[in-house]
Amino acid sequence: MAKVDLHVHCSERSGCAVTPEEEQVKAAVAAGLDGIVFTDHYKLPDPQRLAALNRKYAPFKIYAGIEITADDEDWLVIGVPDPGLERMDWKYPELYAYVRARGGFLVLAHPFRYRPKIRADIDRFPPDAIEVHSHNTPPAFEAEIRAIAARLGLALLTNSDAHAAKSLGVYFNEIPGVLDGEAGFVERLFLLKDRPYGK
Ligand SMILES: [Zn+2]
Ligand SMILES: [Zn+2]
Repeated sequence: MAKVDLHVHCSERSGCAVTPEEEQVKAAVAAGLDGIVFTDHYKLPDPQRLAALNRKYAPFKIYAGIEITADDEDWLVIGVPDPGLERMDWKYPELYAYVRARGGFLVLAHPFRYRPKIRADIDRFPPDAIEVHSHNTPPAFEAEIRAIAARLGLALLTNSDAHAAKSLGVYFNEIPGVLDGEAGFVERLFLLKDRPYGK
């Protein structure tokens, strides 16, 4: 089992974050995690920089993701290192089709954070996972989130949404097996749908 936080920000790519990329990596290593995914707002990590960080902090793993707002919800896309994602005008059904066509893993981040209703049409376009726990998921909605996950067959995730190093380490997912390259990692994420975790 590997402990991975799939929702981490850094100050280089997210204006709302206060901790730089490399400090986030160090904090995650110190917290005992085995890997993180950088999911900055509308911005993917640079592949060469990511490769250099992975070499420097091996066997700790750092993966590429992105956070996108569409239809009044925030979505994480993991496993699609495609700069075509870096747009602010996505409609959710269009984002869904784009991610599906490229084999990516799609997550509804912190549902119910801003309003007591999910406006995006997740019944027609179900993501792969939903954040049942995070610094920004309201605990009062846990039962409702679990019911949605059960109804739509979504994996339950526990991520930090850390914008600062101090927020790292409490929230993580247990990914089966040993962490490897991006393709193998994303394949492993899909296995979480059969084995909902969401501690
Ligand atoms: Zn943010
Ligand atoms: Zn976030």
